[in-house]
Amino acid sequence: MASEQHDDRMFLRFAESFSAACHPRYLLLTGGEPLIRPRLTARLAEAARAVGTRTYALTGMYFARGGGDIPAPVRQALRSVDHVAASIDAFHEEEVSRRDVFRVVHRLLDVGTDVSFQVVGTGDDDPYLAEVTSAIRREFGDRVPMLVGAVRPHGRAKSLPLHREDNRQDHGEAHTARRTGRHAHEPLPCTIAAWPVVGPDGTVTACGNQAVVDHVPLPEHLRLGHVTVDDWPAIRARCLGAPLVRALRLVGPRSLHRRYGSTEPGSSYCQTCWRLGDDATALAAAEVLAARATTTIVEAYAEALQRERGAVGFARRYGCAAYAELVLLGHDEPKAAACSA
Ligand code: SF4
Repeated sequence: MASEQHDDRMFLRFAESFSAACHPRYLLLTGGEPLIRPRLTARLAEAARAVGTRTYALTGMYFARGGGDIPAPVRQALRSVDHVAASIDAFHEEEVSRRDVFRVVHRLLDVGTDVSFQVVGTGDDDPYLAEVTSAIRREFGDRVPMLVGAVRPHGRAKSLPLHREDNRQDHGEAHTARRTGRHAHEPLPCTIAAWPVVGPDGTVTACGNQAVVDHVPLPEHLRLGHVTVDDWPAIRARCLGAPLVRALRLVGPRSLHRRYGSTEPGSSYCQTCWRLGDDATALAAAEVLAARATTTIVEAYAEALQRERGAVGFARRYGCAAYAELVLLGHDEPKAAACSA
């Protein structure tokens, strides 16, 4: 209850800089817990909807606990967003029972709200994941999609022997290598560098890597601006134009480092990225790459390849591959159409 809380106005100012002519397609409200500030959630969603941006809120459903009425401001926020994703995992279930979450999800479905689950476990072999995904499928008759991910080590836990292998093989590198047989240092674009993220203090970063958002560290090449001084068109232009961010989206940090890096690589995909900003040779190479006319063509091709893999391909790379198909549950359209949406 005592954690810092920044003024609503700076976040609203930024959402109000979206216009019909220039707005993001989606605004994702995540946390922490966005519905701790339900009035702000509703106002952001309303500002976004007015210009054609669709919104998604990810919630642990603290308000469902005990089975009572949903407080009016939370009801209003849930009505304002276009999609509600309920977080469910062994940790959340200690706080809010599965029965209470299911009850609220049924109510949302009954009033026509688009709903999904975001589930995490320890990996493809986690028995909890098998049990909870089956329970959700039974309860909702395969109408509700699920994005299933793995809890990853963070902070000091990354250095524990148990997790060292994970750190070398992050961002789906292990999965991609198994699927394609290619070496980890071959091009593997960073899809995450396509999603500007507004952090709790209003800083806008080029990706949602937790350490970057928490500024431990915030490498300068991943800082896009701040919501108190920058508007959406400016952030969009920097995200699309920054040479190093473009290179990350095109080939990923490992490949960039292998070709042009002059310093030691980091111990993981993202740690290699963090070091690139201090590497003058890599920075200069990214500038040269960005200035080439052919780069735009290759970028369009790389983007098309990733879109082709669709929602399932994304879930396979960044989530638990064994459950990737569950992101399309309840989708009426043919898979290819759903993937390109
Ligand atoms: S590679 Fe860089 S841009 Fe991509 S998620 Fe990791 S830290 Fe962010």
